[in-house]
Amino acid sequence: MGMDVDSMGGMDGSDFEVVVAGAGPTGLTLACDLLRRGVRTLLVERGDRLFPGSRARELRPRTQEILDDLGVLATVRALGEPHPPLRYWTDGEPCVDRDLYEQHPGPVPRVPVWSVPQWRTQKILRTRLRELGGDVAFGVALTGLATTADGVELLLTRENRTRIVHAAYAVGTDGVRGTVRAALGIARPAQAFDERPLIVADVLADGLDRDRWHIWPGAKGGALSLCPLACADTFRLLARYEDEPARPDTSEEGVRQLIADRTHLSAADVREVQWATAFRAETGLADSYRTGRVLLAGDAAHVHSPVGGQGLDTGVQDAYNLGWKLGMVLRHGADPALLDTYESERRPAAAEAIAASTRLYRRVLLAEGEPVRWPHPVDGGYRDSRLSVDARPDPGAGAGVVPANALRAGDRAPDAPCGHARLHDLFRGPHFTLLSFGGVEPPPLVGLPVVTQRVHAEDREAHQAYARRGLFLVRPDGYVGWAGEGAAGVREYVTGLGST
Ligand SMILES: Cc1cc2nc3c(=O)[nH]c(=O)nc-3n(C[C@H](O)[C@H](O)[C@H](O)COP(=O)(O)OP(=O)(O)OC[C@H]3O[C@@H](n4cnc5c(N)ncnc54)[C@H](O)[C@@H]3O)c2cc1C
Repeated sequence: MGMDVDSMGGMDGSDFEVVVAGAGPTGLTLACDLLRRGVRTLLVERGDRLFPGSRARELRPRTQEILDDLGVLATVRALGEPHPPLRYWTDGEPCVDRDLYEQHPGPVPRVPVWSVPQWRTQKILRTRLRELGGDVAFGVALTGLATTADGVELLLTRENRTRIVHAAYAVGTDGVRGTVRAALGIARPAQAFDERPLIVADVLADGLDRDRWHIWPGAKGGALSLCPLACADTFRLLARYEDEPARPDTSEEGVRQLIADRTHLSAADVREVQWATAFRAETGLADSYRTGRVLLAGDAAHVHSPVGGQGLDTGVQDAYNLGWKLGMVLRHGADPALLDTYESERRPAAAEAIAASTRLYRRVLLAEGEPVRWPHPVDGGYRDSRLSVDARPDPGAGAGVVPANALRAGDRAPDAPCGHARLHDLFRGPHFTLLSFGGVEPPPLVGLPVVTQRVHAEDREAHQAYARRGLFLVRPDGYVGWAGEGAAGVREYVTGLGST
């Protein structure tokens, strides 16, 4: 049972600092992150349960790091499996087997893309939310909002009963057709890049190995694929309709027939169709991520092509970027202008993810160019952000103190052994981490939740990954915020965050 609208407490408005609307992966991640920072958070969900479909099933390394920080990665990994290699079929025979992802070393730690159906990831996050003392208020829709001098007034509706709740901030994690973006009047211009419709379904089917993602690229009527879903007896169907005026039939019989028409399986091999939906691929990016005290995250702000599966990753990373900033403003007196960096960091990241998944869609489903391997997911980081301050000489500038390929402010902070632990173990939690290399004296950073660590000379891998000498302030979301040597510089950076 989730939370009830009547038990939400503080309906006079005083109890919640942040109201999060929409319990998809983005809202669940944000609520977990805020609660562990001690921020009083209400997560409302219009539906009466978490969405049951498999939808996003690939968790990239960076997303896994976030889940690790939230304390759920072990469960996610136990209940998932490595992403399966591809098997191409022609005329009823397998013709090619190959890996999906490029095999080149990614950033440390080198973890494989992990396959877990979205419903399971969401369930695991909800369990964590409950452990943290929160829960989802199911059956409660955000139906309106208005900003006030010191916060936001929200209309929350359950079965025709509407309450007004007041909060310092509200976040719309309410998905593609969310209420919050519309209420704010923020445009998200849609770009349809394929006129032909697609169908997605979860099906139980016999007659296929479960350790391969099966693809029929040249099937009459359009390409079709069936990908096994980790630890479930189910396959994810994705098919494109090339014929005019074909319309996807999402009925159980329609899906069975589609599979029988385009593969060597018979309709009887499809034991069950758990859910099916048809749509046209389109992309969209909200013109803005914030109006005053109301913010957007996840699909509410950006829509992706289904190929290359980056919707969940991008949403979870939005939440993780926003969580610590809201925590700093509400708990550590940071200047609310810190929240401006949420949009300036995450909107370009979404634009990049949209471009990458559109490229893949064109090459995979529209066969524009050679079939490709998915690029190994690499984290672009936030080098251009105003929160990324590198106080060392520019690479290549004169004396060349910092080599061109060195770790810079804005980069994701790499992992390495450090004493008896690993750096990523030190980062785990809602705090900043100040790393000192080469005996540089780390200054006390007043007003900042921070853990300080001197990295000793024998931790050679850590020195190689960072620097021989210097200070690195790692943000709570795992990126280097400040890099340099002078204690005054890092103190000034912290003052700039406006912490008290
Ligand atoms: C058919 C399909 C297949 C997909 N396949 C993939 C894939 O393979 N890989 C991938 O990465 N992504 C995939 N995606 C995209 C992925 O599922 C989304 O990117 C992801 O769910 C986004 O998470 P979110 O939390 O931002 O939004 P959502 O998961 O959409 O969650 C939004 C939640 O908000 C709730 N809500 C809406 N309005 C209100 C309101 N007014 N008040 C309260 N609650 C509200 C909704 O009920 C919903 O639970 C797929 C999506 C679809 C539809």
